[in-house]
Amino acid sequence: MSTDATQARHGGAQPSALRTGAQYIESLRGRGLAVYLMGKKVDEPVDHPIIRPSINAVARTYDLAVENPELATAISPFTGERVNRFLHIAQSVDDVVMQNKMQRRLGQLTGTCFQRCVGMDALNALYSVTHEIDEEHGSDYHRRFREFVAMTQRRGVVIGGAMTDVKGDRSLPPHQQADPDMFVHVTRRTREGVYLTGAKAHQTGCLNSHWLIVMPTMRLGPQDADYAVVGAVPVDADGITYIYGRQSCDTRAMEEGDLDAGNARFAGQEAMVVFSDVFVPWEQVFMHGEVDYAAMLVERFTCYHRRSYVCKSGVGDVLIGAAATIADYNGVANASHIRDKLVEMTHRNETIYATGIAASYQSHATRSGAYICDDMLANVCKHHVTSVPYELARLAQDLAGGLVVTLPSQQDLEHSEIGALLDKYLKGRSDVPTAKRLRILRLIENMTLGRNAVGYLTESMHGAGSPQAQRIQIGRQMQLDFKQALARELAGIDEDALRAMASDFGDYFTRVFASAGERSPDTPPHGES
Ligand SMILES: Cc1cc2nc3c(=O)[nH]c(=O)nc-3n(C[C@H](O)[C@H](O)[C@H](O)COP(=O)(O)OP(=O)(O)OC[C@H]3O[C@@H](n4cnc5c(N)ncnc54)[C@H](O)[C@@H]3O)c2cc1C
Ligand code: SF4
Repeated sequence: MSTDATQARHGGAQPSALRTGAQYIESLRGRGLAVYLMGKKVDEPVDHPIIRPSINAVARTYDLAVENPELATAISPFTGERVNRFLHIAQSVDDVVMQNKMQRRLGQLTGTCFQRCVGMDALNALYSVTHEIDEEHGSDYHRRFREFVAMTQRRGVVIGGAMTDVKGDRSLPPHQQADPDMFVHVTRRTREGVYLTGAKAHQTGCLNSHWLIVMPTMRLGPQDADYAVVGAVPVDADGITYIYGRQSCDTRAMEEGDLDAGNARFAGQEAMVVFSDVFVPWEQVFMHGEVDYAAMLVERFTCYHRRSYVCKSGVGDVLIGAAATIADYNGVANASHIRDKLVEMTHRNETIYATGIAASYQSHATRSGAYICDDMLANVCKHHVTSVPYELARLAQDLAGGLVVTLPSQQDLEHSEIGALLDKYLKGRSDVPTAKRLRILRLIENMTLGRNAVGYLTESMHGAGSPQAQRIQIGRQMQLDFKQALARELAGIDEDALRAMASDFGDYFTRVFASAGERSPDTPPHGES
């Protein structure tokens, strides 16, 4: 498809916004994407049994918006219309908080990654960053970006956030890599726009999206100017190849029956996206060479995105429910250690929610007017997420018993000769049908070892940055001087320390002690500590 046609298809040419999950699924058909999965080109991703559960998960975000507009939609200041919250630029603390509530609910409803938060967080981060680039450089990015956002809202489309480059040698910046394509970069510029080459790794929901926003992945220096590029690209633009990522046990979706899949309806999606001279018209370029703003963009994006991992508390609710159910079916629900393990799971799960929602409640306005959550608390949230789901998975497997990994197949259960044997010998409590027991075991397997463990466990580890990335951010903001001053004053070592402390709380504690009304656009902007 030509670039013009592609853009018309995803621009204002369509008369009405996608509203329902069914409309969304139809919008993905017939795009002619170059998608490869297990060595084969996929003709129609919508109908591929491995891909379809991931599409269903995104469709659920549309249906939730229909069912519960207060939770999953907002009034756009750009269109004046009610739009899906995943496309909304946060105008208040409440808007940021509601993102988290919607994410927890969708985690509960799907038990997996529903894929739209990367785009939402990229839109919100870019809104303020383009504003501040324009303030310094007199550029036109913010107007372009607002128009792009308004278009996505009018169309009700899905946005993928393409940040993570394949990166090659991790110790080297982009311009020092042996292969310059290890990071996506501008290869050509014309009067019409720029051309991009490179590859983005682990792209969540990329081929379930309508647009990808390409962004730099790290702090850049003056010699990396070609890599300091942000652009919006239609998913079906010429020159893009998608190479689908395997998920543990993914081929179970191709087998007959739905029992062994564990969660047959919903799954996440990740693919490598290869850009070969992909054209982006200037109107959709939102950063071009402003290397100083790459770090600000990455920090603001990860700030939003690290507390978006509240999604895992919703998924955790499902796992806690599954653990409680198998204990019940096994007849041990009232044992004190079982109850205690469920309390432990709940306690840890709520820690994710608590830190994420606190980061959102402690939002402040950027100079653009868009609100952003608290960076320290967002990093603390994500850092919990790098370990808490693993502990919940361990406890769920403890309660499940060994059958979670030794269960015969659905075909054996339904076999004319051995099916009755399995039905007899795999029974737990006599009043619970064997099939119910097996279904809940398969769900626990799915979430802790199978395809949804990708989202629940390893994505929790690395998504939005590996654990060390959060420790660096927490370390930067921990205000040790301030804390030492508190201690020195109380220990009677240095009485001046208290006076200095009273006049300047510093970046994080200014946000801690500010009232909600004080967290206005005049508060020191994010990333300027
Ligand atoms: C399921 C999943 C979904 C994802 N979805 C998206 C998405 O939608 N969009 C997107 O843009 N990204 C996405 N990501 C990417 C995610 O942000 C990265 O995985 C993360 O930033 C880590 O990068 P990496 O995977 O290349 O690991 P690596 O960078 O290879 O890290 C591996 C280890 O090496 C360490 N390390 C790396 N570099 C250095 C260094 N210079 N010095 C010292 N130690 C170093 C890390 O701390 C880590 O311990 C997703 C990831 C996953 C797993
Ligand atoms: S991992 Fe969570 S925050 Fe990230 S896209 Fe998936 S559901 Fe959203």
